[in-house]
Amino acid sequence: MSVSASFVAHFDVDAFYASVAVRDDPRLAGKPVAIAGRSRRAVVLTASYEARPYGVRSAMPLYQARVACPDLVVVSPDMQKYRAISSEIFEVLSRRGHPIERLSLDEAFVGLGGATFDEARAFAAARRREIFEVTRLTVSAGVATGKTIAKICSDTCKPDGLLAIAPGDEAAFLAPLPVSRLWGIGPKMQARLSVFGITTIGELGALGDARLRELFGSWWAEVRDLARGVDRRPVQPERETKSISTEETFEYDVRDEDRLIDVLRVQARELAETLARERTVARTIGVKIKRADFTTVGRQTHLAEPTRDARRIFRVAVHCLRRAALDGAPVRLLGTRVASLAEGDALQTSLF
Ligand SMILES: [Mg+2]
Repeated sequence: MSVSASFVAHFDVDAFYASVAVRDDPRLAGKPVAIAGRSRRAVVLTASYEARPYGVRSAMPLYQARVACPDLVVVSPDMQKYRAISSEIFEVLSRRGHPIERLSLDEAFVGLGGATFDEARAFAAARRREIFEVTRLTVSAGVATGKTIAKICSDTCKPDGLLAIAPGDEAAFLAPLPVSRLWGIGPKMQARLSVFGITTIGELGALGDARLRELFGSWWAEVRDLARGVDRRPVQPERETKSISTEETFEYDVRDEDRLIDVLRVQARELAETLARERTVARTIGVKIKRADFTTVGRQTHLAEPTRDARRIFRVAVHCLRRAALDGAPVRLLGTRVASLAEGDALQTSLF
């Protein structure tokens, strides 16, 4: 066993919303349950394990789920309750003071640097037990030398499981799994890979560098390493920074829109560099404009897909500037701001 191996544990509550519903209403036990809103266009947020054999899945339109499973019991979500349970879960996970990267209300990575493999596995087992004692919910956990592999472990052993992959066994564990199990490899990339006869992670890892470069562009080396079981992305605890901004106060008031757009271009480039350095992506992009009369106007846009791409940030900022409808009013300050920051490593951002 390599002495320098450092471990990551991934925790994920099993069918979180549905499990909460069953916990709080024992009449639902053993029944196919879906959590969904009441609107006509509602989608399934979580399906209980009893509903899954019918093909009921999260993100499926509710009407479709009802067709697939006529006995489906539909329960409205209770976000307040989920948030309260979530803090109980994170309280348990943070007891030993390890860094925690929160992925959602019921899912997190815990960095276990310094622990041996046995200690890391024991940590995961103990937290699983404690979360069950506190919440009466089962949580599955994976332990491995990297985040992606730990997550695949917990997915594989659901529900109520614990799977730990010893250092050195990663590649063998991943090899038979379909490429879709790697984060960021969606249906489009799967189709491209299948053209080359690549369906498993092992086959992907065996590809030559040139082919990988052709398929994955600048992220090819990360994909190759991951497919070969090498996953060095660190656990990233929540950062304090909730937004990043840059602004410029002009020496002379500016009326010329082209000149303002030039400023936005520079600011977008600067923000993109900061985001890349922080390994972060932003979902909100906005501009702040102070007119010569000192009135301030702000416009922002929320993106469907988070980004750290300079051109994207620039285009959205220009759009915001135009929405502010300055009509040639003199401007003394112009700024760009990115917010709704999320952990985003290169692999995920590039492939999604
Ligand atoms: Mg979950």
